[in-house]
Amino acid sequence: MDLHVQASRPPTGFVADTMLGRLARWLRMLGYDTAYDKSIADDLLIERALREERWLLTSDGYLAQRRILRGRHTLITSNHLDGQLGQLRHDLHLSLDPSGQRPFRCATCNVVLRPIAPREAIPLVPLYVAQHYDHFAQCPCCRHVYWPGTHWVAIVGRLAAIRQGDSSLPR
Ligand SMILES: [Zn+2]
Repeated sequence: MDLHVQASRPPTGFVADTMLGRLARWLRMLGYDTAYDKSIADDLLIERALREERWLLTSDGYLAQRRILRGRHTLITSNHLDGQLGQLRHDLHLSLDPSGQRPFRCATCNVVLRPIAPREAIPLVPLYVAQHYDHFAQCPCCRHVYWPGTHWVAIVGRLAAIRQGDSSLPR
């Protein structure tokens, strides 16, 4: 086994600190398993990262210095979402391409969405949406229904702009 190659593979599971809730939601929409609890204490956050073998994302320089993490963390340096995602793309070679290599996750629950038939979705979405969309997915946890509407188009566009900002990297 080539350990160097294995070590350079992007992490598949993350845990984000309490300051990074927005980043956590976007990573989930990109399909990355991202644990987030807005009120978790630092020690419990580290414990969870180690127990569940999640890569810690933190904006806290003191937290990032904790030796117990053994380097399995990224110190997020930007206060802005675009900069944060761009940093993960650069530092971890994380793909910001949402075109379906990974199953989409609920932004709120971090649970993989399941596709549902239009007849199941119609009673749960606004009339306009029911009339104009054919593809729906539902969170099995909170039951929220997702569809590829204008909000999703805006998300896809924003991610494309971040990728173009550093086109020397993979998508
Ligand atoms: Zn949910």
